[in-house]
Amino acid sequence: MLFLKIYLLNSPFKEGFVRCGRWQGVTARGGTLDYPKWLSYTTGQLEDKGFKVKLRDAVARKYTLNDVLDEVEKFRPDVVVVETNFSSLKNDLNVVRSIKERLDNDVFSVITGPPTAVYPEDILKNEWIDIIARYEYDFVVKDLILALESAKDLKSVDGIWFKDDNKIIRNKDRRFSTSEELDSLSFVTRVYRDHLNIYDYYLSQSLYPEVQIFTGRGCIYRCTFCSWPVNLMGRVYRVRSIENIADEFQFVEEELPYVKEIFIEDDTFTIDKKRVRAFCKEIIERGVEIKWSCNARADLDYETMKLMKKAGCRLLIVGYESGSDQILKNIKKGLTTKKAREFTKNAKKVGLLIHADFIVGLPGEIHETAKKTLEFIKEIKPDILQVAVATPIPGTEFYEYVKKKGYLLVDNMSESINENGYQKCIISYPEFTKEDIEKWVNKILKSYYLNPSYVLTFIRGVLRGGGVDHAKSVFRAAKDFFRYIKSIE
Ligand code: SF4
Repeated sequence: MLFLKIYLLNSPFKEGFVRCGRWQGVTARGGTLDYPKWLSYTTGQLEDKGFKVKLRDAVARKYTLNDVLDEVEKFRPDVVVVETNFSSLKNDLNVVRSIKERLDNDVFSVITGPPTAVYPEDILKNEWIDIIARYEYDFVVKDLILALESAKDLKSVDGIWFKDDNKIIRNKDRRFSTSEELDSLSFVTRVYRDHLNIYDYYLSQSLYPEVQIFTGRGCIYRCTFCSWPVNLMGRVYRVRSIENIADEFQFVEEELPYVKEIFIEDDTFTIDKKRVRAFCKEIIERGVEIKWSCNARADLDYETMKLMKKAGCRLLIVGYESGSDQILKNIKKGLTTKKAREFTKNAKKVGLLIHADFIVGLPGEIHETAKKTLEFIKEIKPDILQVAVATPIPGTEFYEYVKKKGYLLVDNMSESINENGYQKCIISYPEFTKEDIEKWVNKILKSYYLNPSYVLTFIRGVLRGGGVDHAKSVFRAAKDFFRYIKSIE
């Protein structure tokens, strides 16, 4: 029998704060609220081993710190696992402190998430933090808890750093997971069903309600601004078997019949086109009918997209990033606007919706390149548009660049969001200032969504995509978008 009780927490912070995203952690302008995916995978791994686990998403449930403290006092965990991200780090460490105080320090505290890859010493110097679990932490936390349960030496647990008599012990990193290990995991959608309220979560691009899953982890690309490959998941793409993914799709259809869409969160789901096609054929053969969407690179071919559409794919999230080829080169995107144009044309031809992501303020940005981005967006007419302020996330090449060049205004990620949790610019170039970056982000968003021609794009989207359900999602996102616009005026 296993004795340890574990409390996993997505801490209370700003309303709608997305801690578990590839970015620095923000409140999304379109109202998106992601599942706490990594904490959920960790929950699954611990439950599979027989541990008693409570997963609390305080942001989604609107729990205050006091609510959390009352809950931990009642649950009396032996270990509390708190995920952090750069912009919420200070808050999250304070939450751990409050929990430790409420439990008279009679609990192990574990911090996880991207900052543990970059600031391990600083985090552990905090007297309330006992252990950090670095990189792909669901596996690391499982190994850690097993070691604690059997009173094994913590020095044997790869992937953790911890304190022993106030001395920091730095264990070696755990190797990244293998494809076989990913196949052995519990379905994360089972964890969502058992621990979370599925109606709490919302993706502005997806039909509601939805679930988010990984079919693989890691990204082979080297975009200089991107955090997860360097701070969390690694650069090798490990994948689940087609059968295992199709089984989870069927699980969702059977066990969560009210769910309207599955969102595949892999960084690079479409990188292996052969695998994507095999997956599509499998779910067509099995008669799976649920709609799904995924992150995609703007280099997918027509035939693969046609098959994806036939297999129930509804929408692609595409990181176009910029309408300037020079910027794409500067950030090592490995794509050109020519390729992106061709891809977009084909996606529209097969009837897939496009959610386009762009960034303003990447290295080399000037008024002329920002204008090119605006023109490019007007040309490709995505169904949903997101434009972000370029944020240099610690650990990335982009961060090193702006820091070295003196373009970083403040080396403190809690300054990268405002009081509402929305993005704030923390860089400024001599030829393109902080104000220019913020002005261009809002200008592009407004000129796209507030333009009468968007109505046509919207109607086309409804006809090509999810009909009334898609319309409902867009209206909800629009409501949040206008709330954001109001907050900046
Ligand atoms: S393709 Fe680039 S932006 Fe996307 S996950 Fe990989 S490294 Fe990050």
